[in-house]
Amino acid sequence: MLAWPILHTLSKDKLSVFLFHKVPKVPDPLVPNDFDLASFESMLDRICKNFRVLPVGDAVDCLRKGSIPRRTACITFDDGYPDWQYGVLPALRRRNMHATFYITTGQFDRRPLWHERILAAVRGLPDGVFDLGYAPLQPILLQSLQDRQRLVHRLELELKYLTLHKREELMQRLESLAGVSPASVPVMSPDALRDLHSQGFGVGAHTIDHPILDYCDETQTNHEIGGVKEQLEAMVAGRVEGFAYPNGRPYADFSRLHVDAVKKAGYTHAVTTHWGVAKPETSVFQIPRFTPWAKREWHALYQVGRNLLTDPMLVPENSL
Ligand SMILES: [Zn+2]
Repeated sequence: MLAWPILHTLSKDKLSVFLFHKVPKVPDPLVPNDFDLASFESMLDRICKNFRVLPVGDAVDCLRKGSIPRRTACITFDDGYPDWQYGVLPALRRRNMHATFYITTGQFDRRPLWHERILAAVRGLPDGVFDLGYAPLQPILLQSLQDRQRLVHRLELELKYLTLHKREELMQRLESLAGVSPASVPVMSPDALRDLHSQGFGVGAHTIDHPILDYCDETQTNHEIGGVKEQLEAMVAGRVEGFAYPNGRPYADFSRLHVDAVKKAGYTHAVTTHWGVAKPETSVFQIPRFTPWAKREWHALYQVGRNLLTDPMLVPENSL
């Protein structure tokens, strides 16, 4: 496994935070470009060889003090998936690597993640013309796996930027056409969350129902940001100090109102999905994150190096 000496130079006063999601043992045919476990483990080996991995809270303390050591990185995951327990956690433990998991809690009340519901529904749709009866999504002929992959992509695009109410209405229409129920979608269990926490991994918050915060009113915003903290703290019987903005892109998915809400809810830091690295002057409420997706080692390390040269986009913040 290659160590890149240039990363030592590039990483001065910078924090790299890596972001992952679901890591299945074998790729899902509907999303073939997602990480599978073998690719993920190769990526972990590269990170292990080139970085010193800290818990997010410790790295944030270093950032606040302006003393972030070279080659510092954090590993993070978003959403909450049952297969973490069997693939990701053992892979991390074998390498003695810490990671923080930002969890969406609706799944503990039998409301699976909306994009997992899309996958289950598209798998269940019969061949033929699919028409959701929703004008932005034109009818699509389903004949092949590629047609279904395209439909997953289109549904995620069209259903993401809606209110939770409208998204739910369309999800139920989709599930009815597919003849599937959300109850059939695998979700993370409360015991799996507590097990992850008891193993020493970090738990952060990622809202209750994964809305785009810019599509929430004030009451919903406070519920999604503050309510999830209370729920998770009760479940793990401990403090939850970090928040991950859903979808996570500054301006497109959250604004200064949401950064304020995160501060008021009592979090000590928050993470986005904008690429780049945090520096001592970066707000700890908008720490950027990055997923190196290349499978080949030289290409992945090039992506990591390029990310070290990227400044994050930040929304302006009010001083509270
Ligand atoms: Zn998410």
